[in-house]
Amino acid sequence: MSRNKSKNIDQSISLAEQTLSWLKEQSIGASPSNYSVGYEYKSGDHEDIQRSLSTTSMSGDKLQHLVDQLYHEHLANPMDTELLDKFRHDLQEILQEAASTLNRSESGMGQYNEALQFTLANLEEGDSLDNVREVVSGLIQETNRMRSEVSTISSDLKNCNSEIAELKNQFEQVRNEVFMDPLTGVYNRRGLEKNLVNMLRYVSEEEPLSFLMIDIDHFKEFNDMHGHLVGDQVICFVARMIRRTIRGADEVARYGGEEFAVVLPDTQLEDAMKVAENLRTGIEKSVLTRRSSGEKLGKITVSIGVTAHKQNETADDLINRADRALYTSKKSGRNCSTTEF
Ligand code: GH3
Ligand code: MG
Ligand code: MG
Repeated sequence: MSRNKSKNIDQSISLAEQTLSWLKEQSIGASPSNYSVGYEYKSGDHEDIQRSLSTTSMSGDKLQHLVDQLYHEHLANPMDTELLDKFRHDLQEILQEAASTLNRSESGMGQYNEALQFTLANLEEGDSLDNVREVVSGLIQETNRMRSEVSTISSDLKNCNSEIAELKNQFEQVRNEVFMDPLTGVYNRRGLEKNLVNMLRYVSEEEPLSFLMIDIDHFKEFNDMHGHLVGDQVICFVARMIRRTIRGADEVARYGGEEFAVVLPDTQLEDAMKVAENLRTGIEKSVLTRRSSGEKLGKITVSIGVTAHKQNETADDLINRADRALYTSKKSGRNCSTTEF
């Protein structure tokens, strides 16, 4: 998702035509991934793709290879492609193992059932004590065999279970790496955009949804004065303050270096402004201290852009408007919140 203004329909159709002509000229098939790369190239929105394709003299298979590479590097969501394929494959293997274990248990049960039936029949027919003893000892043998089989099956199933649990852990870990910010533990930009697009899909006309863009003021100076590590701690402090200020259904993300975004579902613009002001004044009042020495570092302030979703607009439109409101706050002297709707 880019923060450029959304293209109007005529522009986007013309771009689509240019993209298809380019694919044809280069004898590259119009697959979704080739098309996406071509579209980004023709629109010039994506600097890296634009640079790579406008300077290459490659053609044929080599060009296709470059296009694949650009797609995977810049456009594909890793969670949606290779990683998901790997997890799907691993899970399939585990489930196949479990299924074959269950088949084994079924045939074992069948055999045991036969042994029981045989015993029953022989007990009915048998008259001598010796006969009964023989039949019973046969049954004991069968039962022992079954018991050991059941215990192997149960331990095999337990193994499958722990393999699935392990896979789930790995999955969560990768999900975290892709969608979460390791420094602050809140969503990263990719995570926020994915969630926002999902939320907007289901938001109805009557349901308000507001959005904040928050940026630390003069943070470069703060870093220069106190060092990057202290700066990192201040970024974590702002993340904590945001978390403390918002409600359960709200979502916060570190959108960029010292910039945060907050989605407030079911919240009117005026209420979003109150949240923004609570947060801003809470941060303004806090005196920061260096954790190791207790030394006072002074205060920081943030500027905030506040907006609310309009019917049928895209996530990009919403983000761009919050960005503009934030810019107005910066221009108005910082340490303030501005709404734009
Ligand atoms: P403004 O009030 O206009 O926002 O000024 P600013 O200095 O905050 O903005 P600018 O965009 O010029 O600089 C942002 C600074 O944020 C640059 C960099 O020093 C700092 N920064 C960005 N990411 C990180 C990070 O992960 N850790 C730390 N410590 N600093 C960061
Ligand atoms: Mg800043
Ligand atoms: Mg910034």
